[in-house]
Parts: sequence; C-alpha cells; structure tokens
Amino acid sequence: MRAALYLAAGKVVDDDVPDPEIVEPTDALVRVLRSCVCGSDLSAYRGVIVRPERSRLGHEFVGIVAAVAGQCRRSGLGI
Ligand SMILES: [Zn+2]
Repeated sequence: MRAALYLAAGKVVDDDVPDPEIVEPTDALVRVLRSCVCGSDLSAYRGVIVRPERSRLGHEFVGIVAAVAGQCRRSGLGI
C-alpha cells in the first residue's frame, strides 16, 4: 500500500509500505477511503515536534472496517 512518510522537517514523501496485518488481539484493519493531515502532522512538518524518520502521517481518516481481531468489541458506531 502507499503511505505518506515523514522524513524530516519540511520533507514528506509518499512511498510503498507493507500492507498492515492484525497483530494484537484488539487490532482492527480499516480500508481507508479518505484521509487528511492533522495538526500534529503539520507540527512535525514545521519542525515543532520530532517524529521518527519514515513514520506514517495521516491518522485522520474515514474508512471501512475490513477485519477485526478476537478481542475487538462492537460499539454503537457499527464497528
Ligand atoms: Zn490528529
């Protein structure tokens, strides 16, 4: 899959990354339909906060739950 990756202040690229997998019993996989940058992403881009190199940006999204692990609980949101 493709992801926006933080390299350093002022440097962001999109690149191939491994497909996500369920690892923890509380994990869920969500197929992202739309995403956007967050204020924390912009703070890293501006150099206000430091993130690990090649960390993924864009945690604000809407999507479809594709799979859930055994300990995921249903909520009133249909998840
Ligand atoms: Zn956010």
